[in-house]
Amino acid sequence: MTNTYLEKVLNSVKEKNSHEPEFIQAVDEVLSTLEKVIDKHPEYEKIAMLERLVEPERIISFRVPWTDDKNQVQVNRGYRVQFNGVLGPYKGGLRFHPSVNQSIMKFLGFEQVFKNALTCLPIGGGKGGSDFDPKGKSDDEIMRFCQSFMNELQRHIGADVDVPAGDIGVGSREIGYLFGQYRKIRNLYEAGVLTGKGLDYGGSLARKEATGYGLIYFMREMLKANGETLKGKTVIISGSGNVAIYACEKAQEYGANVVAMSDSNGCIYAPNGIKLDAIKEIKEEKRLRISEYLKYDSSAKYIETVDRPAIWSIKADVALPCATQNEIDLESAKKLVENGVIAIGEGANMPTNKEAIDYFLNHKVLLAPAKAANAGGVATSALEMSQNSMRYFWSFDEVNEKLDGIMTNIFEQCQKAAQEYGFGTNYVAGANIAAFRKIAKAMRSQGII
Ligand code: NDP
Repeated sequence: MTNTYLEKVLNSVKEKNSHEPEFIQAVDEVLSTLEKVIDKHPEYEKIAMLERLVEPERIISFRVPWTDDKNQVQVNRGYRVQFNGVLGPYKGGLRFHPSVNQSIMKFLGFEQVFKNALTCLPIGGGKGGSDFDPKGKSDDEIMRFCQSFMNELQRHIGADVDVPAGDIGVGSREIGYLFGQYRKIRNLYEAGVLTGKGLDYGGSLARKEATGYGLIYFMREMLKANGETLKGKTVIISGSGNVAIYACEKAQEYGANVVAMSDSNGCIYAPNGIKLDAIKEIKEEKRLRISEYLKYDSSAKYIETVDRPAIWSIKADVALPCATQNEIDLESAKKLVENGVIAIGEGANMPTNKEAIDYFLNHKVLLAPAKAANAGGVATSALEMSQNSMRYFWSFDEVNEKLDGIMTNIFEQCQKAAQEYGFGTNYVAGANIAAFRKIAKAMRSQGII
């Protein structure tokens, strides 16, 4: 990095947030691609553009007490990071997972600002969640936790203020409990305060499918621009949650052979192709471990995760990390390249660490970056907000068509920015530059706030 302003800001982020490695990683990844843009705008230093960009507008942290089924009181920590509202009300999911801490919340919030800018819809960036672990909890426990979480969160959100949605550990069941409690406390039917709602009370058709489908629409465009298609390609997908399941569904529809999926305990390898109905039954209905899949497919194998996810050792043309952050490290990247991978599509947020990204790019592997490739979820959440405001709904096909158009447009923005700044097919840089230019322009217009 030769730009002294960028270097100064990055060093200051590292110093001020030394206990937040994921946040530093996310900022580093973005700033290291912005050099040519910052060189063109020396005036940004005077208005502290980058210093303001890396500092959340607000972080809310709160106590979440709840009573378990044995009548014991438990206490978790809740968060909402309202990172940047320059483009619209803060928008971003809630994550319930034991690994949640301030660093994870801040990295997700920072990424969300860029992602939301790329959708071209009027939404700012935020993120929230709790270190609560939903695994093994009864339905009643989940409900009591969600109600307690909302008792505090309701003070900070609103359809024109901040609109949370789901993420890891938060699906339609949790959104239902959160929405019910918000409605009771506020005595207000404010449908647009949360997205990912059930279809019978203000949810949008195709929201459930949106992140996974959107990832494949982006992939389709990226492969097309490079003379390839998904048809006949061998695909591996980490995770077996919301994003992974619907990425698999759309990839199969496009003629790909998806041979592996996983959860945090291990992965299944099904050389004849994953039977997605079985995965949906195991994960969406029964909420069991993925190893159960062997009961549905006698030709499949189960490989347990020991040090790093076993799935990245399986030979594939296309790899779709759809589980969690930093799931592909340099070692896994080397294995994937050795096995002939041609494209990576990030369904999860920041699933590839910086060394692995550099390795892929240096080996001419196409990389669809999370900020752009998984933006279909939040884009469709914004379409849910539009439908709520209109007190109307669109059909599945109407929403899906809009989603396809949005993802195609996001790819075009990444491609154009990458080419304009001499990055070729480096869409990681393209996404960062395209989003940054939009955010910076709006921040400059709105003054020093
Ligand atoms: P889900 O909770 O539905 O599924 C998460 C999946 O990832 C599960 O299979 C889970 O396995 C696995 N997983 C979670 N944490 C870990 C971990 N630490 N190690 C290994 N595996 C893990 O979440 P989503 O599908 O909604 O989210 C997946 C990713 O996509 C996240 O990074 C999220 O931020 C991102 N994303 C989600 C969007 C959405 O609309 N839902 C939108 C944009 C991005 P297990 O059950 O064993 O924990």
